[in-house]
Amino acid sequence: AKAEAEAQQLRHSLRNVQHVVLVISGKGGVGKSTVAAQLCHTLASQGYAVGLLDVDLCGPSAPRMVLGDDYVAQTVRHSGSGSWIPVYSSSNIAVMSISFLLSDHNQAVIWRGPRKNALIQQFLTEVDWTGETDGLDYLIVDTPPGTSDEHISTVQYLQKAQNIAGAIVVTTPEEVSLADVRKELSFCKKTSVPVLGVVENMGTFQARMNQLRFLSAHGSDCTEAILATLREKCPEVLDCLVASDFFAGTGGTERMCHDYVVPFWGRLPLDPDLLKSCEMGKSFTELFPEATASLALRDFVGRL
Ligand code: ADP
Repeated sequence: AKAEAEAQQLRHSLRNVQHVVLVISGKGGVGKSTVAAQLCHTLASQGYAVGLLDVDLCGPSAPRMVLGDDYVAQTVRHSGSGSWIPVYSSSNIAVMSISFLLSDHNQAVIWRGPRKNALIQQFLTEVDWTGETDGLDYLIVDTPPGTSDEHISTVQYLQKAQNIAGAIVVTTPEEVSLADVRKELSFCKKTSVPVLGVVENMGTFQARMNQLRFLSAHGSDCTEAILATLREKCPEVLDCLVASDFFAGTGGTERMCHDYVVPFWGRLPLDPDLLKSCEMGKSFTELFPEATASLALRDFVGRL
């Protein structure tokens, strides 16, 4: 009876959301929040009503990537009926995050499992996504990395909703990241969460020659190596875009997708402009429509 009541509550709160899409990863730092935030921006620029729910309690970085510096000033407001009102970005993306509940943004969240799980449940059931629009076309959920307690409880809890479209899995190409992603894929299978697609992040590289020179002048050996391989292609034009599959090579992500019978969506290159757009809370596909990462992001959105 309790499970059915929870399921009803969840369905009620998500009744104005067409598609719930989870963004998950095996490890932290692989670009999960980047993908979640830029998917929101790209969808919003195409005219969809979009929400971002940040449940990554230990590293809530997605709100900054959607709201820019403004995110620090945000606190949660309540509606007359007591539900939580999301914060709206300049492009009308509805955002709800743990970071709005913290008085100091440098504060760490050091709660234990049960308290985190309770908060996640509240997030999922008490936010009013109706807003100024008639609800959302897409709610993108930035989940905690890995198969932690919070991660499992979020996904299992969301399973009760009927409008869960599935999960986008983000990984980097190295085996250390892939090993954790395999566990995630098994977990999705066990909990019957459809895997919409796997995105390989930062396996390739796109930058302008002057950006590379700047990085290498600041002592990055790795950039120096990339520069060396790219000099021939782009000898002197400083603003010329250069791309490389320097890090990819192995094809490990595709092999994993083949083994687990899940769709490989493609590669999002490492791109200093993408990092900058995220820092400013801006839409990369609008600022740099021609970049390889923009082609990839528009392609991912087209598959949703
Ligand atoms: P996660 O959510 O998996 O912990 P983040 O999305 O926060 O990872 O990314 C970690 C860092 O790497 C951030 O500073 C982000 O801006 C940067 N980053 C992620 N993907 C890219 C990319 N494709 N190009 C450039 N920088 C990236």
